[in-house]
Amino acid sequence: MSMLAAYACHPELSRGRRYEEPPPAGRNAFQRDRDRIVHCNAFRLLEYKTQVFINHEGDLFRTRLTHSLEVAQIARTLARNLGLHEDLVEAIALAHDLGHTPFGHAGQDALHDCMRELAPGAGGFEHNLQSLRIVDALEERYAAFNGLNLCFETREGILKHCSAAHARTLGDVGERFLTRTRPSLEAQITNLADEIAYNNHDIDDGLRSGLISIDQLLNLELFASHHARVVQACPGIDPRRLVPEITRAMINTLIIDLTETTLANIRDHAPASADDVRAAPVLAAFSPTIRQQANDLKRFLMENLYRHYRVMRMTYKAQTIVRDLFTAFFQDPRLLASKHRRDDPNEQARAIADYIAGMTDRHAIREHDQVFRMGSGFSA
Ligand code: MG
Repeated sequence: MSMLAAYACHPELSRGRRYEEPPPAGRNAFQRDRDRIVHCNAFRLLEYKTQVFINHEGDLFRTRLTHSLEVAQIARTLARNLGLHEDLVEAIALAHDLGHTPFGHAGQDALHDCMRELAPGAGGFEHNLQSLRIVDALEERYAAFNGLNLCFETREGILKHCSAAHARTLGDVGERFLTRTRPSLEAQITNLADEIAYNNHDIDDGLRSGLISIDQLLNLELFASHHARVVQACPGIDPRRLVPEITRAMINTLIIDLTETTLANIRDHAPASADDVRAAPVLAAFSPTIRQQANDLKRFLMENLYRHYRVMRMTYKAQTIVRDLFTAFFQDPRLLASKHRRDDPNEQARAIADYIAGMTDRHAIREHDQVFRMGSGFSA
């Protein structure tokens, strides 16, 4: 661990946990949070949840788990460059996607629509809020409390965005959405590490799948400039090594640009504590040129990969599975094991959302078969 800057989050100055606990022996409070996240059930489920490609489409595609590990690795590099707390960014990175439904964003959108249509008073579904709900309430591992009882700083980083209506129900971590202040720098850089990770690994996975091509990507400044650099430095490079060399160089450029721009912002605003960071404007940022290039890349991936007809077919199937399950369970909760049943309709909708969101891709497919496929027998 490098020297912690004054503006970093210091574990001994933490705003604390929801339930008071004695400090850990032999590790700091943020290390304990990281360790609790790695040991929880929701973390292991990330291995079988879709990032972009459904889990069983190919063994080399990213899953939510490998995505989260890549985010943690990039965030740790940034934290070390900036004198921030590496254990805290690692904890935030490993927890940031815990609340994702099966089948990625397609599953989340379907679940949200079902909640809005069938139980308008229940508050909808949002994966970011669900990540917080998992660490605050849903994990059942400790004798003294529900959830993982993480530090405020870790929970603050997990809750990236949130509506004012939800913020009012969330206590301390909801406050900044009402006062319009910022989270810690550890939270800010982990959020951007997420973007660096998915932009680059989605290029890699997209090319591997054959849904996008290098020729298309050469229209993008960020990709084209690094492609030219690699081809010039390694003439005749084996095509299989070309893409990893380009993404490796792009990740490096993005990390260096983000480090330099953020350090300049820190110099301008001179925060002397994590609370000064929270009161300042957003400090973690790319330079305007790189921001523009990264936005172009995001737009390209949206139009050409995430909305590719083959991905859209997967999306359609995923939404059908989630919508069928939610509707069947909500209309007749007797289809559910008793632990998922509630008397109040809004609580019932939330319990079904928790149950479906907690499924892996293959669990949701199996459950759909058991409820709807006549040939599947009556062994459900
Ligand atoms: Mg993510």
